[in-house]
Amino acid sequence: DYGPAPESDDIVKTWLAENKVGFGHFIGGVFTKPGKTFEVISPATGETIAHVTQGTADDVDAAVKAARSAHGKWAALSGHERARWLYAIARRIQQHARFLAVLESIDNGKPIREARDIDVPLVARHFYHHAGWAELVETEFPDARPVGVCGQIIPWNFPLLMLAWKIAPALAAGNTVVLKPAEYTPLTALAFAKICDEIGLPRGVVNIVTGDGATGEAIVNHPDIDKLAFTGSTEVGRLIRRASAGTGKKLTLELGGKSPFIVFADADLDAAVEGVVDAIWFNQGQVCCAGARILVAEAVADRFGALLRERMKHLRVGDPLDKSTDVGAIVHPVQLARIRELMDKGVSEGAQLHQGTAPEGCFYPPTLATGVEPASTLATEEIFGPVATLTTFRTPTDAIALANNTRYGLAASIWSENVNLCLGVAAEIKAGVVWINCTNVFDAGAGFGGYRESGFGREGGREGMHAYLAMPAPKPPKADDAP
Ligand code: NAD
Repeated sequence: DYGPAPESDDIVKTWLAENKVGFGHFIGGVFTKPGKTFEVISPATGETIAHVTQGTADDVDAAVKAARSAHGKWAALSGHERARWLYAIARRIQQHARFLAVLESIDNGKPIREARDIDVPLVARHFYHHAGWAELVETEFPDARPVGVCGQIIPWNFPLLMLAWKIAPALAAGNTVVLKPAEYTPLTALAFAKICDEIGLPRGVVNIVTGDGATGEAIVNHPDIDKLAFTGSTEVGRLIRRASAGTGKKLTLELGGKSPFIVFADADLDAAVEGVVDAIWFNQGQVCCAGARILVAEAVADRFGALLRERMKHLRVGDPLDKSTDVGAIVHPVQLARIRELMDKGVSEGAQLHQGTAPEGCFYPPTLATGVEPASTLATEEIFGPVATLTTFRTPTDAIALANNTRYGLAASIWSENVNLCLGVAAEIKAGVVWINCTNVFDAGAGFGGYRESGFGREGGREGMHAYLAMPAPKPPKADDAP
C-alpha cells in the first residue's frame, strides 16, 4: 500500500483534465453526472481549475436517502469491522499524500509545505485515531448508539482536514454522512470520495454533495437528517442554530474566533516571535483559532515589536507550490476584498499598519496593527487574514481582562518561563484551548471547540465521540445512593 509517491503535479493535472466537463456529486457510491456547475479557481493564479456541480435540494435528498439506506448495515458492523475501513482510508490517504497536498495547495492557495507537512498528515492521523475509537466504542460507550444520518458542512480554510474532523468520528460511531465542502475549495473532498470508491467503502456511507450556501441550507432543512455539524462563520452558525431549533436534530457548531496571544515580560521572546509566525501567518491567518490579538507586557513591548517587524520582513509571500513559500494566496478575491475593507476601516479608526511585502494578485502582506483601541474594528472583528493587532498590558490581571474582552472564546496562547503564572492565567481565560509556550498545536486525541460565539461541542478525542453518539439520559440517583 505504500508505493512510491507519484509525480504529483502531473497526476493532479491529469485528474483535473479527466474531469474537464465538470465534477458531479458522490452519492450512494456513484459519481453522478455533472449538473449545473460553477467555476473553481486557483487563487494564486486566478485560473479556473475545475467546474463543480451546484447541488440542488433534490441532490441533497438523494444523498440523504443513500445515507439512510446504508445506515442500518454500517451501524450493525462490529466496531472492529468499522475500524478496518477507517484504517484503510488512513492508509490510502498516506499513499496519495502528495496528490492530496498539491491539490489542496492549488485549490486553497496554502503553501505546499503546510499542506504536505501539516494538513495531510493530520488528516491521516485523524482517521487512524478514530479507527481506534471504532474498536473501543462498544466497550467505552456501552449504552450508546449511533445518531444516524449526519449532515456536515465545512469551510475552505482546511478543506481536507475539516472533512476528516467531521467524517472520521461519525463513521467510527456507526453513522453515515452527507458532507458539503465549501464552494471555494471542493476538490479534495471529491478526491476523498475517489478514495472511498477505490477502497470499496460500502456505498452510501459517505456522500459528498458540492454547492454553495443554498446547498448547505438544503442539508440543514432536510427532515431525515439526525445530526448537523458545521464549521464556518458565526453568522451562518447562527442561522443554522435558528433553522434547526425545535427539530430534534443534534447540533455542533465550530465558529469564529479572535484569540489572544499573551507574551509576559519573562517569555523567551525569540520563541514567542516564532510563535506569532505560527499563530497568525500560518495558512495566511485563515485559521479560526489564529492568535490574532497579540498582548505583550509593556516592559518588553518595544523590543518584541521590533523583533516581530524584523521577522515579518523575512517571510516569503507568493507561489503556494514553491516549497520555500511561507505565506500563500488568500483563498478567493472576495475574501481578499473583505480583508482590505476591514483594514481600511481599521486605519480610518486610527490604527497604524506595519506590513511585509506581497506580490500582485490574490495575496495580502503579513501585517501588524498598532494603535488599536479595544472596541475598534481591528480589535473585535475576525479578519481571517495574516493580520495581528499588537496591544500592551501591565499586570497579569490586565492581560486576562484584555484576553477575555471578546465575544469569542476558541483559543489562547500564553508565553512565559514561569509555569505557575502560565497555569494561573490559563485557568482564567475563557477559551476552549489554551496553549502554553506553543500555538496552533492540534491532535486528534484532544477535544477542540469553543465558548460563547465560537460555538459549542468538541471535535476530536473522547469528547468528540459524544457528538456522534446518542447517549441515554443519566439515571436519577436511587434513594439509598443519597449522601
Ligand atoms: P461561511 O460560514 O459562509 O461558509 C462555511 C460553509 O457554510 C460553506 O460550506 C458554505 O457553503 C456554507 N454555508 C453558507 N451559508 C449557509 C447557510 N445559510 N446554510 C448552510 N450552509 C451555509 O464562511 P465563508 O463565507 O466561507 O467565510 C466567511 C467568514 O467566516 C470568514 O471570513 C471567517 O471569518 C469565517 N470562517 C470561519 C471558519 C472557522 O473555521 N471557524 C472557517 C471559514 C470561515
